[in-house]
Amino acid sequence: MIGQHLQIGDLISRAAKAFGDSPALIHGERVVSFAEFDSLTDRLGNALLDRGLEPGDHVAVLVPNGIDGVVVYYALAKAGLVRVPLNARETDVELDYKIEDSRARALITDGRTPRETEIVIPTTELAGMIERGSSQPCRVVRDQEAPLRLAYTGGTTGKPKAVILTTRSELAEVANFLVDLLPDLGPESVMLHAAPITHGSGAFFLPHLVKGGRSVILEKFTPQGFVDAAIEYGASSTFMVPTMIAMLVEDAVIDRDRLRLSRLCYGGAPIAPTLLQRGIDALGPVFAQLYGQAEAPLAITCLQPHEHTPERLASAGKPYTFVEVDIRDAEGNSLPAGTAGEVVTRGPHTMNGYWHRPDATAETLGSDGWLRTGDIGQRDESGYLYLLDRRHDVIISGGFNVYPREVEDVLLTHPAVREAAVVGVDDERWGQRVCAAVVVREQISADDLVEFCSNRLAGFKRPRHIEFWDELPKSSVGKSLRRTVRDTMGQTREVENA
Ligand code: AMP
Repeated sequence: MIGQHLQIGDLISRAAKAFGDSPALIHGERVVSFAEFDSLTDRLGNALLDRGLEPGDHVAVLVPNGIDGVVVYYALAKAGLVRVPLNARETDVELDYKIEDSRARALITDGRTPRETEIVIPTTELAGMIERGSSQPCRVVRDQEAPLRLAYTGGTTGKPKAVILTTRSELAEVANFLVDLLPDLGPESVMLHAAPITHGSGAFFLPHLVKGGRSVILEKFTPQGFVDAAIEYGASSTFMVPTMIAMLVEDAVIDRDRLRLSRLCYGGAPIAPTLLQRGIDALGPVFAQLYGQAEAPLAITCLQPHEHTPERLASAGKPYTFVEVDIRDAEGNSLPAGTAGEVVTRGPHTMNGYWHRPDATAETLGSDGWLRTGDIGQRDESGYLYLLDRRHDVIISGGFNVYPREVEDVLLTHPAVREAAVVGVDDERWGQRVCAAVVVREQISADDLVEFCSNRLAGFKRPRHIEFWDELPKSSVGKSLRRTVRDTMGQTREVENA
């Protein structure tokens, strides 16, 4: 493996030596240099160990998007403590479950204490701890296979499970990003974190740090605020989930000449090709798609900017350099190009299993190292991956497989449709029938929408029932919750049968 004994802390101290006083992190008025970042994380790491925490302990972290969160994350890494990042948008009930399930010994919190742990550290105490902490390098050396963090899955198919990620998987992500996605990173690079750096966008922090690039944290994402900040800071890269791109192209005034954005990375959920094309029209050929999942964070495949040709806009790209991808049938046989099956992946980027869930681990991660993603996809002759849908969301109607995403993409090409979610509802005759919930920009009848689909989709794929909703249910990270759509379909809203 890449840098077999290397620790995350080594990358930080090396960057401090190389880039010293230049800014590494900027958030509003606060600027932290590379050298300061190294020192803050050393001091806090030492202070955490002085509080009685021991390497390998799990520490739940509930801190807002900002520099403190980043300092906490990397202080934990230096101290050999396992971080359990929590999302502040979740309810106390959801957080309580994760704190309990992860067996966190400590909680670092911005005020809420959904569950008491042995040690509770309010963020207001962090400055004092940093001040009193020893300035000696904090470098607890751990095996690269030892847990570095526990990442909870979205829980779109049941109770969230914690994925065990290691120093090995983290370094693999950095290597993959540097080789394939951001090969031109250097001290002039500026990453604008438009999504919380304590989540997906955080994956861009280390690659920038090791190359001397700076990370600017945006307080809160608003489409125009993003454009203005990108101009002000001279942002070269950013990361968004598709909903943010939709907001950007709908609501922002984009003056391309004043932007120096060379990579708008996006992923985490499917994107409609029509939206992607609108994005490219507005911002130029800067879009780079990432496909990954909690079990293999952001690094299974990527679609480079120059690969965003009209015929490839529906593709998730090709595997990263250090990643293998295959398509398998239910028996585990490899499938040829053009045939749909489950996407599996193998490489240093994958998880080590689910925390205390041996059954789920055995189902997902084979002894040969192949990880079952639960996504259905197919490759074309050139090796480009096309994701069709989640295995659990596939609708089987009259014996035919219907991939909801394909139907959603067609609905989204209608100018009146802003959002769409397609689900299968039990049906005596057909097994399941295709139903859609849509959010519209302007009024349109269900009949007209069905008619629109009739010209573009085979009969068995056409929605049989369309509901008009004010909004679609989304998880706290903005993923559409098809399960909730399915469960509430036909119950609470006016129904139009088509
Ligand atoms: P999570 O584990 O919550 O990050 O969700 C991961 C899932 O999101 C994947 O298994 C895919 O179903 C979906 N996903 C992630 N990235 C993409 C992408 N670029 N295109 C389509 N779906 C994606």
